[in-house]
Amino acid sequence: MTSAAGLASYYSSREMVEGPIGEVNASPESEEKLVPTICSFCAIGCGFKARVKDGELVGQEPWYDNPINQGGQCSKGQASIQEAKNEKRIKHPLKKVDGEWQRVTWDEALTEISNQLQDYREESGPDSVYWMGSAKMSNEESYMFRKLAAFWGTNNVDHQARICHSTTVAGLANTWGYGAQTNHSNDIQNTDCAFFIGSNAAECHPALMKNVLKAKENGAKVVVADPRRTKTASKADLYVPFRSGTDVPLLMYVLKRAIESDSYDKKMVEERTYGFAALQEAVKDYDLETVHNITGTPKDKLKELAEVLISNSGSAGPMTLIYSMGSTQHSNGAQNTRLYCILQLVLGNAATPGGGVNALRGHDNVQGATDMCILSHTLPAYYGLSESAWKHWCRVWDVDYDWMKSRFENQELMGKPGFTVARWFEGVLKDPEEIDQPNNLRAIFVWGHSLNSVSEMVREKKALDEIDLAVVVDPYPSAAAALSDRDNNLYVLPAATRFESEGSVTNSGRQQQWRFKPVDPYYNSKTDKEIMIELAKKLGFGDKFTKNIDGDWTELPEDITREINKGARTIQMSGGTPEILKGHMKNAGDFDTTTLRAEGGPYDGDYWGKPWPCWNEDHPGTPILYRNDIPVSEGGHDVRVRWGPESPDKQSIEEGLNDQMKDIVEPVSKELANQTMLSGQNGHDQLTERYNNNHWAYDLETDYKQAVENNLVPSGRGRARIYVWSWANDGGDGVPVHREPINSPEPGLIEEWPTYEDLDNQYRVKTEFKSAQQERKNDSEDYPFVLTTGRVVEHMGGGGATRQEWWLVERSPEVYVEINPSDANDLDIENDDWVWVKSKEGKAKVKAKVTPRPMEGLVFIPYHWFGYFQGEDRTDEYPEGSVPYGIGEPANGVTNYGYAWTTQMQETKAGLCSVEKASDQSAPGEKGFSWDEENNRIG
Ligand code: SF4
Repeated sequence: MTSAAGLASYYSSREMVEGPIGEVNASPESEEKLVPTICSFCAIGCGFKARVKDGELVGQEPWYDNPINQGGQCSKGQASIQEAKNEKRIKHPLKKVDGEWQRVTWDEALTEISNQLQDYREESGPDSVYWMGSAKMSNEESYMFRKLAAFWGTNNVDHQARICHSTTVAGLANTWGYGAQTNHSNDIQNTDCAFFIGSNAAECHPALMKNVLKAKENGAKVVVADPRRTKTASKADLYVPFRSGTDVPLLMYVLKRAIESDSYDKKMVEERTYGFAALQEAVKDYDLETVHNITGTPKDKLKELAEVLISNSGSAGPMTLIYSMGSTQHSNGAQNTRLYCILQLVLGNAATPGGGVNALRGHDNVQGATDMCILSHTLPAYYGLSESAWKHWCRVWDVDYDWMKSRFENQELMGKPGFTVARWFEGVLKDPEEIDQPNNLRAIFVWGHSLNSVSEMVREKKALDEIDLAVVVDPYPSAAAALSDRDNNLYVLPAATRFESEGSVTNSGRQQQWRFKPVDPYYNSKTDKEIMIELAKKLGFGDKFTKNIDGDWTELPEDITREINKGARTIQMSGGTPEILKGHMKNAGDFDTTTLRAEGGPYDGDYWGKPWPCWNEDHPGTPILYRNDIPVSEGGHDVRVRWGPESPDKQSIEEGLNDQMKDIVEPVSKELANQTMLSGQNGHDQLTERYNNNHWAYDLETDYKQAVENNLVPSGRGRARIYVWSWANDGGDGVPVHREPINSPEPGLIEEWPTYEDLDNQYRVKTEFKSAQQERKNDSEDYPFVLTTGRVVEHMGGGGATRQEWWLVERSPEVYVEINPSDANDLDIENDDWVWVKSKEGKAKVKAKVTPRPMEGLVFIPYHWFGYFQGEDRTDEYPEGSVPYGIGEPANGVTNYGYAWTTQMQETKAGLCSVEKASDQSAPGEKGFSWDEENNRIG
């Protein structure tokens, strides 16, 4: 077996780069190597080459052959090497003792931490520990992290996807089977109309824009619907403003126009969807006057939007829909994302190149970390938490199911979703009788997560102050280390960056890229893999953790990739072996930059990165989901059968409906009942009987070559659900209906368009919907502005890394609030004035940016900053030498209470706040940098 000693020698002896990649590009004079690697910021997944000399990063170069970005990168990507090689990094494990940071050895830190964890386990059970993981981890590390929490014996594990695209996964998967982007960024070149809603890609996913501009050069229209006139909107042929949180009425109006004018794809609707009758009923509520009143969009703009989208769809299109967190971070976010699918199905833009629903993910590997399910409600690859799911993974991991059961407090908790990243703090702050587990949380790992990306930060800080033990694992201390006032039992462990570790990462388009490792870990840092393995050993299950059904791990990370290949059957990651993924990288120039398919060469016919589902090594991957017009062997698929072959009967359909659904469903329930859920004439259920009589997703042996040869989709050919009966039966919405945000600026609309009933137990804690909305109904009197948050091009997430990079901070040094000139004039606010932004939950002192970008009544704050908090300077709390260059107030110090019905997504795109000029026109503290005259840079 692989002992720790074996792993240690593996890490120290392994060549960083093998094969021709380094050799071909090496410069003989300087003995530099160019190591192809993948950007560690956004999920477009741009490639670049790291310049390495004598084991040191000395620069970076474009990787022109990488088909995703062909050498181009945004400002963040071009500053990548500063992420790794940076004097601000944590250089040793640290712990806080009596308010002072003290240096400790790795062994001391891990021994002390694991001893305390064992004590908490003994006294309060395994659910007293919270494992907050990261979208920055590779696929292999993400998988290991979920496995680590499972072996510890808890589902209290989660990561950033909860607060960025959990409503995407729920919405898309419940509509057509998979919860991911259907097409890929390069495919946008094929569109006739790029429709952005809730996405400011020009700042958040810049490399994608070259595909949009290419399509525009070919005559495509660009349409942007957004409450802000963003940089993306500056490229639009049509810009449509609308009130934040009103996507549903906006697009229901478009659908109403399409249906009433008979301008929709009848073939698609009849052959490949279920529940159109419910939609026909639902759209009746969204006439021009009503939608104008809800959205605030001028009527002529509403008409123009419908006209442009409809006339550039189907046979006159296709139109592609592109969205991101502007759509997802709402209490009804999953209904927004579902409606996008419905729009594309009905207008005839689904399942085709140049069409589809392009859900742009945030962090570089958030798609992969989601697939590996660092999530509190499911095991890797979306298997859920049922007994059969646990047994499947126990088989892959080669551990006894009864042993696994013994790790948990009890079997009930083993099957129960844990606390989420969005509301983990309630596990500390609520009384034990108010949470659905025996004891409060007593320890938390904040592993690669900047806590300033979570809303309700005042409550979060309180929890961090009160919890018994907090462990931050990160290359930089991040907000998590400086937010708390605690004097003891706070550890900071220095993790390696993405350029000091190796593994696969999955970009937003489901393409897996192998991230080669340019250099060994800097300073005294360790890779996430190493830390997890050492921790598992200290916690007493190291041997079990490092083996699988094929034997012990001897080669990392490749053995873990193979474990994923074997076990992740639901989304079929079987074909993306480490050898093939590396081979793609080495032959990048063979892949077409629009289709991403290899033309000739050793991987002829493969799609770049074997996008899942990829049934076996011979299968090319599926770059565009749900196509039934091409063979499965060429990347064809169909809508996935997830709901059985039949819809429920009339009686079942009418059970559990909320008031809005009753009006929509009861008139058509007969039409909805007893339909087949298999598609057109080709539909078939899963291939259960053909393969070992196992459910296909639990069958570890079959390679599905025979099925693919016979043009059968192993997971079945089904219909997309326009109507989701399972949600409607639970008191949710079967078809999207408008629901006012929890914090609505329109009290008059709340009665007609209320939010959901409260949920007594959602992820182990009560979540208030209607009661909170009612309580806050008149809040707009004191907090008259709609508050929304977002990103700027130079920073990423909580800015834990980017605010430490002086190249980026020079370009984007400080946080601000965007306010419309008309509103600013009313408040006597001028550009660069210090202002207070306040809400029921907190406040932030920031500078005003007076600009016509936001609609009147809307303010926008980018959410990357920390260092000041609630008007106070917290820079003294950082370990010495690690205060970021970029210091400012976090937007989430002021964002509101409000969470999503399905997934507990935070509602940070539609809150309420006030804005007032500060009487004290000085910053809350000293800046994080001063000008270094000698070196002509900030320092
Ligand atoms: S941040 Fe995104 S767009 Fe920018 S270089 Fe990295 S992957 Fe490309």
